[in-house]
Amino acid sequence: MNSEKITLFWFRRDFRLEDNASLFHALKDDFPVQPIFMFDSDILNKLPKKDARVSFIHQEISRLSQELAERGTTLDVRYGRPIEIWEDLLSEYNVGRVYANRDYEPYALLRDKAIFELLASHEIKFSAHKDQVIFEKSEIVKADGKPYVVFTPYSRIWKQKLKESDFNPYPSDTIDHWSNSTTRVIPNLSAMGFEPIETSFPSREVDLPVVKNYHQQRDKPAIKGTSRLSLHLRFGTISIRQLATIAIANNETYLNELIWRDFYVSILWHFPKVAEHNFKSKYDHIIWRNDEQEFEKWCQGKTGYPIVDAGMRELNETGFMHNRVRMIVASFLTKHLLVDWRWGAAYFAEKLLDFELASNSGGWQWAAGTGVDAAPYFRVFNPYLQTEKFDPAHQYIKKWVKEFNTTDYPEPIVEHKMARQRALDTYKIGLDQAIA
Ligand code: FAD
Repeated sequence: MNSEKITLFWFRRDFRLEDNASLFHALKDDFPVQPIFMFDSDILNKLPKKDARVSFIHQEISRLSQELAERGTTLDVRYGRPIEIWEDLLSEYNVGRVYANRDYEPYALLRDKAIFELLASHEIKFSAHKDQVIFEKSEIVKADGKPYVVFTPYSRIWKQKLKESDFNPYPSDTIDHWSNSTTRVIPNLSAMGFEPIETSFPSREVDLPVVKNYHQQRDKPAIKGTSRLSLHLRFGTISIRQLATIAIANNETYLNELIWRDFYVSILWHFPKVAEHNFKSKYDHIIWRNDEQEFEKWCQGKTGYPIVDAGMRELNETGFMHNRVRMIVASFLTKHLLVDWRWGAAYFAEKLLDFELASNSGGWQWAAGTGVDAAPYFRVFNPYLQTEKFDPAHQYIKKWVKEFNTTDYPEPIVEHKMARQRALDTYKIGLDQAIA
């Protein structure tokens, strides 16, 4: 064992050295900081072997490793089950303290509890900090201490609290207090069973004109009217504090979207069941049709509804889908086809580069009408009207559906008027059942 007492800083979903809350505190503490990262085999084993997100993580870990090398330290990168890796780390390093930023997903909470207990049994303190969101846990609650389940009052208090609090980005001129560790090799993707994906990921630079015009352009999927930063917020390659600072100075509508993100993280933390179950249990009695062939056509973008198909093909080809179109395809799956929102959420979880449990289950339950502050169940998006409004010249559709308006394009999988009525009837029967 190395005799020098050190602090271990554990990167999880915060891949940056600047404005990183827990790293800032670790560097100010007594011992030199040894940074670590783990490719978690419990998570990786469930992913397809060609997963662009794993390539992204690998790319960003390599970048971090280089940035750390410039500061004279080595990023210690491991592959395996976190609890076992921690046992190894404790036998290899003389660990004084451990630092990490908080993660609010159910799996992460369980993992961290086990690590906390392991460290406690060695009398090592595990310090966790808020970094992923502006406000966490019960920082924004009603006067009676209960969480908000409606966005508007939540966002009002969020904004009020922001004025009262010191949420500024952490200064980057922190003491360079790194450990002087030896070189280690980052496990390569194939050793972990993955194929590298050659693709270019969205830039992590904030496009200021996009933010400034956000309120006018954000609903047009054919143009770059949104920031495309979701992947970077997901993995912490951009800091939410820096982005919120830009939003406050430039565009309130954009700020509201960042608040939606905090809101859904808070909902998942207070109600972890939303990842798997209807937030409103009165919807538990809906009898979903769950037709596998129709679901497959939806996945492939072959429903005969051009805006739906364009969205699904964008997702399949790029790992991204515009927010307006996410709402349309989710409404179509749950209402027109009456497929359980969990099927759609699982498909998104597999395909989205920016997949995030809180926003994904939030978005799906919003569309299905089963969630917090959801679209009412009788609001069934009309894909044709949505197209007229948001893609009137069919630019977006033509980009993704090459055979649009040709005989090769499939007939609609279901007739709109009939499907709408069927959804209303099915939801109503389910709700009546709940009351009875
Ligand atoms: P912008 O419009 O530029 O917004 C800036 C940031 O605000 C986003 O990057 C995101 O972090 C946040 N944001 C924006 N809209 C929302 C929203 N409605 N809810 C929560 N946060 C929001 N977002 C994810 O990050 N991961 C998901 O897995 C995810 N799944 C979704 C599933 C469905 C069915 C729906 C309807 C929405 C989902 N969203 C998800 C929210 C939203 O669609 C994406 O955040 C957005 O499209 C990302 O593009 P952008 O970075 O250009 O967003």
